[in-house]
Amino acid sequence: MENALARQGDQSEGVDTDDLLIRLRQIVGPQGLLTGDDVRSRPNQSWGQGSCPARAIVRPASTQEVSEVMRLCHELRQSVVPWGGLTGLVDGISCSEDDVVLSVERMNAIEHVDAEAGVLTAQSGAVLETVQTAAEAEGWLFAVDLGARGSANIGGLISTNAGGNGVIRYGMMREQVLGLEVVLADGTVISSMNEMLKNNTGYDLKQWFIGSEGTLGIVTRTVLRLRPLPRAVQTGFVALNSFADVVRLLKRLGTDLEGRLSAFEVMWRNHYHFLTEESGKHQAVVSAQYPYYVLLESSGADAVAEEERFMELLGALMEEGTVADAVVCQTSQQAKNLWAMRDDVETLMQATAPPAVFDISLPIREMEGYIDRLEVTLAEQFPGIRLLVFGHLGDGNLHLGIGPAHDRHAVEALVYEGLEAAGGSVSAEHGIGLEKRAFLKHSRSPAELALMRSIKDALDPSGILNPGKIFS
Ligand SMILES: Cc1cc2nc3c(=O)[nH]c(=O)nc-3n(C[C@H](O)[C@H](O)[C@H](O)COP(=O)(O)OP(=O)(O)OC[C@H]3O[C@@H](n4cnc5c(N)ncnc54)[C@H](O)[C@@H]3O)c2cc1C
Repeated sequence: MENALARQGDQSEGVDTDDLLIRLRQIVGPQGLLTGDDVRSRPNQSWGQGSCPARAIVRPASTQEVSEVMRLCHELRQSVVPWGGLTGLVDGISCSEDDVVLSVERMNAIEHVDAEAGVLTAQSGAVLETVQTAAEAEGWLFAVDLGARGSANIGGLISTNAGGNGVIRYGMMREQVLGLEVVLADGTVISSMNEMLKNNTGYDLKQWFIGSEGTLGIVTRTVLRLRPLPRAVQTGFVALNSFADVVRLLKRLGTDLEGRLSAFEVMWRNHYHFLTEESGKHQAVVSAQYPYYVLLESSGADAVAEEERFMELLGALMEEGTVADAVVCQTSQQAKNLWAMRDDVETLMQATAPPAVFDISLPIREMEGYIDRLEVTLAEQFPGIRLLVFGHLGDGNLHLGIGPAHDRHAVEALVYEGLEAAGGSVSAEHGIGLEKRAFLKHSRSPAELALMRSIKDALDPSGILNPGKIFS
């Protein structure tokens, strides 16, 4: 990790640590600064691994304090790594011993819910689940949801433009953000706390920061768009005989549910069979012998009509042969069990240890051929290696769990090279961080990369914000 983060001519090396800590403490107070073992006990990589080697963790309590911290770090050319809930999966929070961590963990307030307009204002350290609960209490839905909901922060979700389970209906994090407050590398506060859906007054500045992984600014506050809370949710699980049937099913549900399809999560047989029959961790709800499975969700307003439509549609799809077998959840617990199976990344990580986990996107028409080819090449080059495939297929996004990946780089090269030929992307939703920066060139042209670098240089000319992430 130290090698991955080594930077030429790093200015932070010359900063006197004692002087820095005194001045940071003057800004945030003793509560706001962690040093020594309190820093080392925090992780330095994805999945809570490693030990943080940073000089200090500074924990401001307000935008004003973030601004003063950044002004000081800018003056000293001190590098800063922003931290949210540490659930990111591409080592975007990793530090070297020269860095200071800026954690927004003390800025976690839900400031306001406008129950008439469906707008929620929060500080960036607010945890996703807390935001979801606060919205629901006022009769609204905050539409981004993912397995790490108990820890991921709104600021982290914005900075990675997180996707999750409801993208097919509600879009990614970018589609939920109406307004943003950001502190730039030099301490300037940019407050664009817009509440309207429409606002075409020049450049939409918030878009630069959404998905920029802490390399362009520190997200401090945000205005989020809420959606009408569905009163009726139908969940089903279906088995299919071919990939062509999966594609047909997606199209039919899109049309026949009239925009109420809220999840379409696919599992290749290897994944479903592993989670149910092999690991025994989850109960099989249909036979594990089919090649494909889909976890479906439809959300609407009228419970009776929604159920009738869902059952009728699945019945018709079975009769015509698109769906081979199906179950419809009768209780919310049954639905929870299905989602727990879908979200069980831990069992997958154990079975593929040391694992290589991928988050790719590619056109749906390319998916079957790409996975078939990858399966063959992996088996040829790494006999005994396991490939598990699942993901948000409706969004063109597949997750791959591959392992044991003793030669991780060779496995990555196989996955990404085949992907470029299929017109895919090395990251659908997790971002680049450190983990994928060597492979960014597979998905972005030299002209695109040059423009990204110019934006970085314009906003952070000293390169102090999350150095080494996205670009080397
Ligand atoms: C079990 C599990 C399931 C997941 N499922 C999904 C999924 O379905 N879809 C998906 O997209 N992701 C998923 N993720 C990944 C992860 O949850 C998201 O990337 C999430 O958005 C990270 O939020 P965080 O607060 O933990 O950010 P962190 O991990 O703390 O940080 C992530 C990046 O954002 C930067 N950052 C954090 N806070 C700020 C801030 N305030 N200002 C500027 N930069 C900041 C960091 O420097 C880092 O580069 C999953 C992760 C886990 C562990």
